Amino acid sequence: MAREGNIKISSEHMMPIIKKWLYSDKDIFLREIVANASDAIAKLKKLVEIGEAKDDGEPFKITVTADETAGTLTVEDNGIGMTEEEVERYITQIAFSGAADFLDKYEKAGGEGIIGHFGLGFYSAYMVSDNIEIFTRSFSGAPAVHWESDGESKYTIEECDKKERGTKIVMHLAEEEKEFLKEFTLRTLLNKYCSFMPYDIFLNPKGKDDKPVNTTSPLYLKQPKECTDEEYKAFYRETFSDFNDPLFWIHLNMDYPFRLKGILYFPKVKKQVELERGQVKLYCNQVYIADNIKEVIPEFLMLLNGVIDCPDIPLNVSRSFLQNDKQVQKIASHITKKVADKLEELYKNDREKYESSWNDLSTFVKFGCIKDEKFYDKVKGIVIFKDLEGKYRPVESFFGEEVSDEDAKNGTEPKSVYYVSDENKQAQYIKMFKEAGLDAAVCDAYIDPHFISFLEYKNPKRVRFLRIDADVAGELKEDAAEEDEAVKKLFESALEGKKVKVRTEKFKTGSVPAVINVAEFMRRMSEMNSFYRMAGEEAAEVTLVVNLSSPCVQALKTADENEQKLIATQIYLLALLAYRQLKPEEIEEFSSGQTEIMQKYLEKR
Ligand code: ADP
Repeated sequence: MAREGNIKISSEHMMPIIKKWLYSDKDIFLREIVANASDAIAKLKKLVEIGEAKDDGEPFKITVTADETAGTLTVEDNGIGMTEEEVERYITQIAFSGAADFLDKYEKAGGEGIIGHFGLGFYSAYMVSDNIEIFTRSFSGAPAVHWESDGESKYTIEECDKKERGTKIVMHLAEEEKEFLKEFTLRTLLNKYCSFMPYDIFLNPKGKDDKPVNTTSPLYLKQPKECTDEEYKAFYRETFSDFNDPLFWIHLNMDYPFRLKGILYFPKVKKQVELERGQVKLYCNQVYIADNIKEVIPEFLMLLNGVIDCPDIPLNVSRSFLQNDKQVQKIASHITKKVADKLEELYKNDREKYESSWNDLSTFVKFGCIKDEKFYDKVKGIVIFKDLEGKYRPVESFFGEEVSDEDAKNGTEPKSVYYVSDENKQAQYIKMFKEAGLDAAVCDAYIDPHFISFLEYKNPKRVRFLRIDADVAGELKEDAAEEDEAVKKLFESALEGKKVKVRTEKFKTGSVPAVINVAEFMRRMSEMNSFYRMAGEEAAEVTLVVNLSSPCVQALKTADENEQKLIATQIYLLALLAYRQLKPEEIEEFSSGQTEIMQKYLEKR
């Protein structure tokens, strides 16, 4: 005789919450049901281990079967099963946490690791089902039970003749959820949520040759010293469908003070322009939870690819709780520390690889520094920049000694470090710097404008960055050269109507007749604008610095007025060309000027 009953917890309250909670993520019901099946097997296994249940030698497994004609999706396990009383308690009275109860009972026997993490678990299946049936038979030998409910308020429960131990959940899918009967959909979902679950999962099994859809012992669970490079790479390819090998990886494996296992991969950066989002998948006891949970995984680490399995995360609580949870914070900072350690180890033990990977690494490291001061403190010694000879040097080796407060009061400034942001465009300046025996750091990564500001902010007494074309380096100039008013006037009148100021300087070398100069501050403003895609004005005012050491400039003094105008303009355009791309009208002026000069040169022979 079937008994009827009312679901005690008022499900009129539950269903709206469940539906809203999972609105965007309906498909996790499958994870919940399969994870329950997996937990049920884990429980039985534990009982076998402590001698409270017999091992019948049957391999543990979970099957997922879709029946398109009947419109049902069935998940079946050969785990611990439930007695009638247990169904009443665990399923009907959903306020009870079945796993907590179980844990309580078997705690002394070491029942950890099997707690159900997801709270609403079983009931989430009602998001897609009109009706659900449970057929279950407990390992204890109690009679098998059939339970059925539409999830709203009523249920029936009766004995049935299920022969095999375990539980079968039959979901009668709602009309609009028939998508979940398609094999392709199911396979995709099982791959997403269940690919590392610890027991074999079969989808629509057909016979002996069936292959499970999951890997029951993913690589990250192994001891790091037992894993080969090939295995790491293969795991990466399979898990992230990226056919490029990763640069390197970090295998996390700890038990104390919390349990954490996982592998973080540094991918090759495809293009520098965008900070590419990585994918760090979070698991809890081999059950997939979500990607890129920022409360657990520090934001900058999300540029990496990886899997992290952390059974100690309190997942059945809200995210805002996660944010303030001490344990979770510890996990995040542990992961950060491990990453820093690994980078340091690579820097110390394999400098060549470190340097050759730096292009791919640097965005990540710099972003990490900006985002996380602790990370910066750990890695600041191994942030490197190329110098003008092309050699990598730790960034701090470019810095000066710290200026004491006393000296600062007397006007001593922190050391000016010149940097190159584009080796091609700034080739002229680089040449001048080299000729004068000066050095500069090559800071041409997309993130460098920000990173430079960050370094200044962290080291205000040691460094001030100036772009190589900014405020013409004092070191390039001859001491005490006076402005040559005649040359200045000559250029000013030649360039009348153009948005440029003129100044003269005497450089140590004469190979370049003039350079464009933009105040560092102005330029940074306009760079920031374009970085954030704001309608940035071109740097408001540029200055043409005319080099009095240049024989060409000296010769210009005695030329006739027309020649002066022509050549001064060309000198300006050349300087501009070394500074930025010319506009169409400037290109036109430049090429017609060049042609005229060539013609005059030939005519004068
Ligand atoms: P949780 O898994 O978070 O405890 P659920 O609502 O998913 O919550 O499940 C409630 C309880 O029902 C489980 O703790 C377990 O005791 C029982 N249960 C669910 N599915 C199964 C199953 N396949 N086999 C045995 N017991 C199950």
